[in-house]
Amino acid sequence: MKPVPVNTPIFSHREKELLDQCIDTGWISSEGPFIKEFEEKFSGYIGRKFGVACANGSGALDIAVAALKLKEGDEVIIPAFTIISPAFSVIRAGAKPVLVDSDPITWNMDVNQVESKITSRTKAIIAVHIYGLPVDMDPLLDLCRKHNLFLIEDAAEMHGQTYKNKKCGSFGDISIFSFYPNKHITTGEGGMVVTDNEELAQRSRKLRNLSFEPDKPRYVHYEFGWNYRMTNMQAALGLAQLEYIEQHITRKREIGKLYNSELKNISGIQLPKEITDYAENIYWVYGIVLKESRIKNAAQIMKMLSEKKIGTRSFFYPMHLQPVFVKMGLFKDEKYPVAENLAENGFYIPSGLGITNDQIKEVSQTLMRILG
Ligand SMILES: *Cc1c(COP(=O)(O)O)cnc(C)c1O
Repeated sequence: MKPVPVNTPIFSHREKELLDQCIDTGWISSEGPFIKEFEEKFSGYIGRKFGVACANGSGALDIAVAALKLKEGDEVIIPAFTIISPAFSVIRAGAKPVLVDSDPITWNMDVNQVESKITSRTKAIIAVHIYGLPVDMDPLLDLCRKHNLFLIEDAAEMHGQTYKNKKCGSFGDISIFSFYPNKHITTGEGGMVVTDNEELAQRSRKLRNLSFEPDKPRYVHYEFGWNYRMTNMQAALGLAQLEYIEQHITRKREIGKLYNSELKNISGIQLPKEITDYAENIYWVYGIVLKESRIKNAAQIMKMLSEKKIGTRSFFYPMHLQPVFVKMGLFKDEKYPVAENLAENGFYIPSGLGITNDQIKEVSQTLMRILG
């Protein structure tokens, strides 16, 4: 049996054509013309006025947090179960991340637990859409209005996904995407900040570029910033991929549904929920959670799959247990049982755009044998 990697991206002829143009014209840096075109087309696709292309999604989060001027003493509510990037961005700004446990069905932040975490110091909520279903946005938007909070949307895994027929990434005061190779469209490394607020867009542009001031003498700086610029070559990839985004999304849903039907008869595991009242799963990755009745844990199952040359990844590791934060004395004695259970019993199986239906069946059959 040939190895089945956890992710393989797919390309058309367009990527080469546009990359050739970069080389032929010599436009390879962030000054090239594809950057602006990609920003306009992608932010337009999401339904936002402004896009600021960045070096990666984590950098886009740094920019989003800094653009909102979050600072020391501010509290920012984030999920306990997430990639670490939002927590890093909040802490780097000097602000304090405050954690909320997950919903056991959607694996997203449990919005019912958010209000009890709001204090007079709370300034923002970061909604991280996880794995395939969006966060339940309406209750969060109500809380933001009621308590005058900023909403940052981490839509890195949700290109094209909708919440009540409105695109993910269109809800935040400022929202971010990633174009890492396992996302629905990729630029190799890359990300984007999107917003409707012109001032936030301008601040984001400045922060991305070492806080050079567009209207002041060059090399004179008044604020901190980063070099988080995207290259013209990355934007070329992004523009080519954007032409196929609807096909990518359709295929992702096909992959998810095929796994659902192949795996539905295995007892003792929880599969991704296909549909909720507000969204249809987009299966950024196809996650599985072992139920408590299982003797083997996720790490053991992943090892057995790896022996069959099937790639997997563990689920995110909860923020309150991260050694880097424990060392800093953060989240001491806090408990988030749903997040802990997901981390211990969850993993995802090969579900990138390059997987074939035969591979999906092969992976499913192997998993079925292992799980009995
Ligand atoms: C991938 C991802 C990021 C980070 O993106 P990079 O481009 O890898 O830095 C941030 N948040 C979420 C939810 C992600 O899945």
